[in-house]
Amino acid sequence: MAREAETHADIPFGPEDTPWQKTFSGLRVVGGRPYGTPPSSDPRAAYIGVPEVPHHKVQLPPTGLDADQYTEAEALFRRHIDTQTRNFAGYQVTSDLDYEQRLGHYLNRHLNNVGDPYQSSSYTLNSKVLERAVLDYFASLWHAKWPHDPEDPESYWGYVLTMGASEGNLYGLWNARDYLSGKPLRTHHREPGDVTFEEPPRGEGPHDFHPVAFFSEDTHYSLTKAVRALDIDTFHALGCTRYPDENPLAPGTPWPREVPSTEDGAIDIDQLAVLVRFFASRGYPILVSLNYGSTFKGAYDDVEAVARTVRDICAEHGLDNRRVHRAGDANSEPDERSGYWLHVDGALGAGYAPYLEMARDAGMVEQAPPTFDFRLFDVHSLTMSGHKWMGTPWACGVFMTRTGLQMAPPKASEYIGAADTTFAGSRNGFSSLLMWDYLARHSYDDQARLAAECDGLAAYTHERLLALQEQLGQDLWVARSPQSLSIRFRQPHAAIVRRYSLSGETVNVDGAARTYVHMYAMSHLTRQRVDELIGELRQPGAFPLAPPTGTAADGARTAQPAEPVAEPVAR
Ligand SMILES: *Cc1c(COP(=O)(O)O)cnc(C)c1O
Repeated sequence: MAREAETHADIPFGPEDTPWQKTFSGLRVVGGRPYGTPPSSDPRAAYIGVPEVPHHKVQLPPTGLDADQYTEAEALFRRHIDTQTRNFAGYQVTSDLDYEQRLGHYLNRHLNNVGDPYQSSSYTLNSKVLERAVLDYFASLWHAKWPHDPEDPESYWGYVLTMGASEGNLYGLWNARDYLSGKPLRTHHREPGDVTFEEPPRGEGPHDFHPVAFFSEDTHYSLTKAVRALDIDTFHALGCTRYPDENPLAPGTPWPREVPSTEDGAIDIDQLAVLVRFFASRGYPILVSLNYGSTFKGAYDDVEAVARTVRDICAEHGLDNRRVHRAGDANSEPDERSGYWLHVDGALGAGYAPYLEMARDAGMVEQAPPTFDFRLFDVHSLTMSGHKWMGTPWACGVFMTRTGLQMAPPKASEYIGAADTTFAGSRNGFSSLLMWDYLARHSYDDQARLAAECDGLAAYTHERLLALQEQLGQDLWVARSPQSLSIRFRQPHAAIVRRYSLSGETVNVDGAARTYVHMYAMSHLTRQRVDELIGELRQPGAFPLAPPTGTAADGARTAQPAEPVAEPVAR
């Protein structure tokens, strides 16, 4: 054995700091040589540590851990997670969960909802019966036509996601891309068998089936990933390559990467209109993804106003209603479909705003965000994360569209006994059970009350931060967008950021980089916890001074001292 390899095999490993090659049990002695590769360097030095959970306590030697080692390691991890859960304030996920008693049983059951939710599968260990109940619940909440009916193009279709809204965005954009590219609709391909495309559909113009995507600068990163994975051109990509000098927002300047937003974080509809018109007038079908509860500011795009704007512009250019012939089938009946698609990313908002609307109608709050759901005919698809408003222990969510907008799945899958209409293969059936459990135990009244309470807590937090800003005589950039559950302010000391799991984002304000954090007024957060945080923010040194000068680029990474230190207050 080479000398170097021996050194690596000697690396201390596991709770007892055993040299790695000695961590094997009896089996390896028979072969005389450890199975597998030794570490090429010390993994404890290679990874970011969690101080509360020392790496060596949780390393997994080939023998596994004995009962004492397991108990100690699990207790360390548990204490860490429980502490972080108690102070969790920085993300839009409800974290006081209550599923263990009722649903622990199912941790020892397979629940796999593989294939279409509305078709039974030969894989009988599934929770599709609950999934359909959850989907019907949301179809009604979002004013879609329900129940799902494969023969009725106006009825909804959807499925429970195995990932969160990121999967809903990916699926929505995939569907949109194929719809706008003229591929066959599912309603035309009910019969089993593969759908083949002998030739691309033809239109009169060169760009008739070349969709172009628009979303705002406040959009979640999953959209950027989705357009890349799906190879969808954004207006930026297309503008830069085909129309480099023609940015219609500011002739002679480079194309923006995303549609500009207002200060509040909602998409700027006037600028969107200019961009959409540029491409619609050249014949490109239009794909717009909107935010309903943007990730950082919690802003609601005005879906109705955008829908009206996009529809009107598309109608001017013959993109409102198009007849698409099936490729390679001259005798086929053309189908009629729009030349635009509106997807709504409602990761938090689609789960929350309907209840706030109910609360408003019941006089419990004054305002609710604008309409976003299937009341608007131009909303083609919609997604929500289950772990955000409801709170589930892992990522899940709902995707929804109309049956008539579904694309034919690429291949029929006899193997699972149900059409392969979803994104994943195996789908998490436990998530449908979790959402079903939550919805069974929370009436509309309960949820409207919770929504009103969260709205009130957000207002309270906002007021307290404004008062702190006043008291410190320091601009903390405190802001809350209308009806948002997110309150943003200047990034405090790293120790506070970590304690409360505050999420950060650097934005450019008038050419200067500002690093903000936000907190989210979710239902597990209390006024007491908010007061505690405000108390910490009031301490000297809670807001380290920004570097005196700095450009947008280098201001983003501000070094911070390890512990709070007293510093003179700015200005
Ligand atoms: C959180 C979020 C997502 C992604 O949701 P996941 O559940 O993390 O996949 C997408 N869009 C917005 C606006 C979000 O806030």
